[in-house]
Formats: sequence, structure tokens, C-alpha cells
Amino acid sequence: MARRKYVVGNWKMHGLSADIAEIQAIADGVGNSTNVDVALCLPAILIERAARQVTGIPIGAQDVHFAEKGAHTGCISAAMLHDAGASLTIVGHSERREGQNERDDDVRSKAETALTRGLGVILCVGESLEVREAGDALATVQAQLDASLPHGEGAAAGVPAKLAIAYEPIWAIGTGKVASPDDISEMHNALRARLIDAYGDAGNEVRILYGGSVNASNAAEIFAVDNVDGALVGGASLTAEKFLPIVKAAESA
Ligand code: PEP
Repeated sequence: MARRKYVVGNWKMHGLSADIAEIQAIADGVGNSTNVDVALCLPAILIERAARQVTGIPIGAQDVHFAEKGAHTGCISAAMLHDAGASLTIVGHSERREGQNERDDDVRSKAETALTRGLGVILCVGESLEVREAGDALATVQAQLDASLPHGEGAAAGVPAKLAIAYEPIWAIGTGKVASPDDISEMHNALRARLIDAYGDAGNEVRILYGGSVNASNAAEIFAVDNVDGALVGGASLTAEKFLPIVKAAESA
């Protein structure tokens, strides 16, 4: 099945108001892309400003709380993100699973709440180096996906059009190491099978992105792998100069 490629930048804890011009430069660069979807997930505090001032690219968040509202000091709800102009959010990034102790059921609740509120969701899964070296990567990531996938009203609201999965081996994030095409293919095919188990035919339409040190030099090879529908890009999404060649590679894939 042909799925449109999807390239999403994750700015993590980078970006000040002075960087709005760079965000606009990225948006201008993707302006003529007709066969690829592109979005930028920004620090929460930049979302409203970017959504108001930048034209031509969807703006997303990097996390969302699972509750609709309430006593959750410092947290941000899906309705707030939507109100600020975000149209999507990442959930379950390994830096949050590890750094903020997020469990699979938290990730699932976040995905369900975001989809119910009309936000697109990039749901991240991926194994540690220890797990890969023990030969347990496939089983671990499949179990993580099964336990994190949205069900119920959230799933009905957003699968397949608004849900994407990002397979991000933790050892490849920000390290310059990239999983081999064979390993990526094995994992993405396994995740595709799980999505079909969970959602039937609609599971064929959910896009599966690869993430982990994607850059201008390796993007084309990664996009050529079976069941790779795009990329979640960290460091190389911070400037137009580094990010736009990745978008170009997706256009030509
Ligand atoms: C990420 O932030 O999800 C990521 C994959 O980062 P990087 O591209 O820097 O490895």
C-alpha cells in the first residue's frame, strides 16, 4: 500500500523566540513538497508563537497530559495544545519514558486523549542497547507497541489518519549510530503486523517512521526500506540547511 511519506522534526529542549525565522525558513523550504507531509514538534512555550507567526507547516508538541484538565501542576492538556495552534503531538518519546518514568499505559492514555481532541499523534517505541544486544529487541518493542496503542474512543477518532508510530532505537538517538537497513526492515515489518492485528485493514494505513540519527547522508537509504514511511528527526531538524535535504530525500523515495 502506498502511504505518503511523513517527516517530523523534534526540537526537544531547543528553540527561543529568535528561532522563529529558522522555523519559517524550514516552512518555506517544504512549501512546494506535494507528496510528503512535514511537521515540527517544538518546545511547548514556542508553539503558540510559531503557530501564529509561521505559515506553511503544521506545528506540534512533544508531550501532552492524559487528563482533560485538573490538578496537574506544570502539565499541558490536549485542549491547551489545540488552543495554542498545535495540530499534533509526540507521545512516549524514550527521553520521557526514561527521564519522566512514563509507562506504556501512560503513553496509551496520552495518545487516546490527544486523538479524541483531534490532535495527530506520533507514538514512539524503541529498545535500549542492552535489550538489542540480548537479542530481545523485536519482542520488547512489539510488547511496548501492543501496550501503548490507543484503543476505544481515541482509536476510533484517530486511526489510521491521525496516528503514526516512530520506531526509535534508544541507542541510535543523538549518537550518530543508525540501525542497519535489515534491522529496520525486520522491526518495521513486525510493527506493521502488530498494527494489522490491532486495527485490521486500517493498520495498513498507519505510518511507521524511523528515528535515530537520521541526516541528509543516510535518509535516502532509510526511506528505501520496506515499511519505512518517513522519519522522526531530532538534531538534524534544527536548521533548514540540515532538515530540508531529508525532506527532499522523502520526496524522491
Ligand atoms: C529524536 O529526537 O527522536 C531523534 C531521533 O533524535 P536524533 O535525530 O537527534 O537522533
